[in-house]
Amino acid sequence: MAAPFARFRPDVSMPGLLTTVRTAFDKVNDKRRQASVQYSMSDSLMAGLAIFSLKYPSLLMFDQHARSSEPVSNHNLRTLFGLSQVPCDSQMRAILDPVNPSELRGAFRAIHSGLQRSNSLKDFQLFNGKLLLSIDGTGTFSSTRISCKHCCVKKPKRNQKSDEGSEFYHQMLGAVIVHPERSTVLPLDFEPITRADGSNKNDCERNAGKRLIASLAAQYPKRGFIVIEDALAANGPHLKTLIEHRMDFIIVAKPGSNAALFETLDQRMKQGELQAWETVDEKTGLLRGYRICEQVPLNNTHTELLVNCLEYYEIDRQGKEHNWQWISSLQITPENAEQIMRAGRARWKIENETFNAAKNQGYHMGHSYGHGKQYLSSVLGGLMFLAFLIDQVQESFCRVFGEIRIHHKSRRNLWERLRAAFTTVKASEWEGFMRFWHKPGDFAFEIPSDRPT
Ligand SMILES: [Zn+2]
Repeated sequence: MAAPFARFRPDVSMPGLLTTVRTAFDKVNDKRRQASVQYSMSDSLMAGLAIFSLKYPSLLMFDQHARSSEPVSNHNLRTLFGLSQVPCDSQMRAILDPVNPSELRGAFRAIHSGLQRSNSLKDFQLFNGKLLLSIDGTGTFSSTRISCKHCCVKKPKRNQKSDEGSEFYHQMLGAVIVHPERSTVLPLDFEPITRADGSNKNDCERNAGKRLIASLAAQYPKRGFIVIEDALAANGPHLKTLIEHRMDFIIVAKPGSNAALFETLDQRMKQGELQAWETVDEKTGLLRGYRICEQVPLNNTHTELLVNCLEYYEIDRQGKEHNWQWISSLQITPENAEQIMRAGRARWKIENETFNAAKNQGYHMGHSYGHGKQYLSSVLGGLMFLAFLIDQVQESFCRVFGEIRIHHKSRRNLWERLRAAFTTVKASEWEGFMRFWHKPGDFAFEIPSDRPT
């Protein structure tokens, strides 16, 4: 007899997560005159989320499937995603365009509160219950033709006066909870890097970082975060922002951009004031070296800002050397240096496991699903990030999802099968649907080969 299909846990499984998100969407500010509203804000946001949950490469394909030509998808959007009515793509764009992307924060927060409640976050905790938060920026849109009033603009050097030949772009700063030993990540928040209302100046990662840190501190006052970032963040104003909001940090330092800091380290090394040690792995012959130094001034401008420094290097049998340096607010000791090194190196997970996954593993980040005149591009980017969070929560904690995932080597294949299942079988609830996604062969019908996937 086959093993029983695992059961859903409400805070980490698709039906519960979608109910949580829907409740948060019900609170999103809707500025339309309610008497003339045909489609609700929540239905429009849930439809947008469904596009990314189902990994549709375009709004048009979603629309074709969701509208009357595909009654199966329309049915499933109602039963599985809880839509009362399914807006067409142009209606959805029009409804979502004026929504401020910060309105999506409630949905991220609601999911993370659920994870806290079910004690799931303990799997991601380090250093006495703290969470590693990797923060980095990525491009989400770029065009020489399409633009909105929030686009940042890069003008060609030869033509600074008009928009001719200009590149319009949006970027996004993402904050993602990571763990050195876990392959999944948990997106926590995002901040669009776009021009503010009425501004003619480009936004930048540093300003967006300031807004994001303040927002995170206000939303999660009781969480202990250790922020991990690249060398761009190793500057006085940014460290002051982190300290002001009581966040710890482990940030990459580079001799090129932190020259004074490295000079001080050299001096202290000459004076024998660094703690340094090496170990050799007997099996691989890999030499690992550590140097630590406490209370070093960040630079000549911010001498009052004292940071702790960790250098780590590896030399293999062939003599090939790699080294890394970080500055940190944490006290670094021979006992915790390895753990801090691993935490610092987990920073790349926001690039590899998050942005690259979102660009290459079915989420189509960077494709334009519609730009809009106000916020549409950023709202759709936020919904994509939210769909990614929901998938990662399931992959991290949901046993039902785990049973399906194990059957698919690549995520791309997993999502193709999901979309095929969604357009094939009318489902009344998630458990039955996920059984079909898991093993369609166990059901009494087959997927027609001419059905679009
Ligand atoms: Zn724009």
